[in-house]
Amino acid sequence: MSLLELRNLTVTYPGGAAAVRGVDLSVAAGEKLGIAGESGCGKSTLALAALRLLPVGTQVGGQILLDGEDILAMRWGRVRAVRWAGASIVFQGAMHSLNPVHRVGEQIAEPILLHSRATPAAAKKRTGELLEQVGLPAARATAYPHELSGGQRQRVMIAMALACDPRLVVADEPTTALDVMIQAQILGLIERLVSEQDVALVMISHDLAVLADTCDRLAVMYAGRVVEEGPARAVHENAQHPYAQALSGAFPRIGDPASRFAPRGLPGDPPDPFALPAGCAFQPRCPVSLPECATEDQPLREAAAGRGAACVHVGAPGANAGTARDDATEPENTGSTP
Ligand code: ADP
Ligand code: MG
Repeated sequence: MSLLELRNLTVTYPGGAAAVRGVDLSVAAGEKLGIAGESGCGKSTLALAALRLLPVGTQVGGQILLDGEDILAMRWGRVRAVRWAGASIVFQGAMHSLNPVHRVGEQIAEPILLHSRATPAAAKKRTGELLEQVGLPAARATAYPHELSGGQRQRVMIAMALACDPRLVVADEPTTALDVMIQAQILGLIERLVSEQDVALVMISHDLAVLADTCDRLAVMYAGRVVEEGPARAVHENAQHPYAQALSGAFPRIGDPASRFAPRGLPGDPPDPFALPAGCAFQPRCPVSLPECATEDQPLREAAAGRGAACVHVGAPGANAGTARDDATEPENTGSTP
């Protein structure tokens, strides 16, 4: 059974932004799933939904099963119990997630005290151990967030996320705010800790190369949908969907900040969730679209065993079914390059 399973998940914000539109995904115990996509494609919304952290008034449809239990149907007491101990989240900007007026040690100890019968002394000891696990001296427990560097604060967030031995950690762009050297260290740390402790990981990034390095499987999101899914290496090296192809060609260097909003060779931006185009949401930017793409939405279809892509060219009956794009020709070569 999957540890986390999203079934036909839809999320619509108050005001009507359709941020997630029918996502099916699953993560096995101990598995590392990467979710890629440009800014605005619904990645954070999906992460927040999985921990029931969305703003009041947000409409959530479908099912989110954590270890078989529907998160959306849980009472609040149960949701609180599951957070930290069942599943925890590491956000992008640690400065905003840590409380500036409390010492970091107290903040790590808080979920431990809340979720276990640990005495304050035991929680303090565990906090020291956790800090050392994430590469900080135990004595840093007395520091305030502003006394730490960005990388150190993110290490504190990781210690917090692991404090109650969760079975799932969701890391939403955990290194995006950091410089490139530190990014690599922090990603390495997350990967090592979740592997050692057999924790499942959902790692979110706009950077497909980072995810391909860290994760077992990848899902590429566009306009609130999963448009491609499969083993990490296969998706990165041999993407089937033109959007996934553009993303996988977009990052010559891990963590290149310039590539964040503009995958190489791909004009335009993801659509506004208030004004989604008819047909395939990627069609207005797609270098290989067919006339029907403007009117017919494309479901995720099997591209190969264990792989899916939501593109008219994938698994199409007739010529080169399923292999039309197997040579991973960059879409920028087929379109007119500005
Ligand atoms: P990503 O993490 O992939 O950048 P998000 O999940 O943050 O994407 O956002 C998806 C869409 O939902 C965006 O169009 C964004 O503007 C919209 N959105 C995000 N948060 C809110 C909110 N609290 N209220 C209304 N719309 C939101
Ligand atoms: Mg985000």
